[in-house]
Amino acid sequence: MEKRELLYEGKAKRVYATADPDLVIVDYKDDATAFNGLKKGQIQNKGALNNKISSYFFELLAVKGIASHYVRCLSAREMLVKKLEILKVEVVVRNIAAGSLAKRLGLEEDTSLRRPVLELYYKDDELQDPMINEYHLYALEIATEEQVRHLAATALEINEILTVALQERQIVLVDFKLEFGLFHGSLLLGDEISPDTCRFWDAATREKLDKDRFRRDLGGVEEAYEEILRRLTGGN
Ligand code: UDP
Repeated sequence: MEKRELLYEGKAKRVYATADPDLVIVDYKDDATAFNGLKKGQIQNKGALNNKISSYFFELLAVKGIASHYVRCLSAREMLVKKLEILKVEVVVRNIAAGSLAKRLGLEEDTSLRRPVLELYYKDDELQDPMINEYHLYALEIATEEQVRHLAATALEINEILTVALQERQIVLVDFKLEFGLFHGSLLLGDEISPDTCRFWDAATREKLDKDRFRRDLGGVEEAYEEILRRLTGGN
């Protein structure tokens, strides 16, 4: 698949056009940011690791009937995906209190939640992605009621699929963020599913195996991402 002009460069990925207007190439970078871009750095080999980890999850979800933008993995850092019109909403699902939820509600980290919590954030870097609810989505015409029902149901289904798959590998899925977009009128899962966008803890030790190691300067960041890939695929 021929790589053409750069269409977009984000914090962790570059997106390139291809000869097919419906398909783009995502190139995963080693750059890492946290706290809305205030903290910047690099995680050695992160691009390749996130490309492989995301490919693994998108393939697993496809088998379980969840449609995404994923077409195939092209190379170490590159993935071929359908070109989506991304909705300006981030969908977060949580199983255990951590990060901003623990802070906002005064919960100790690792407090388990009786049922999953679904949250919506307005995707706007300048505003630092404020939390919103479904009424904001309707009022701002970001999504219709039908689309929000689909987003919520799909996000919760993905939570169940990933929780089980990860449990088998002694990993706890604490929380994660999803993005969705339109492809010729149908809503598909987009973006990535990786240690950049999920919290993964070792089931026994509760050791963090995700971007919190970078956010909190815990060290061993690359090793944590490698460990996730190793447990998922045996390293391939
Ligand atoms: N998350 C993300 N991108 C964002 C914000 C959050 O991928 O812009 C992910 C984050 O990695 C975690 C989950 O969404 O797995 C919940 O994040 P939280 O609201 O606790 O925010 P944070 O700790 O990043 O401030």
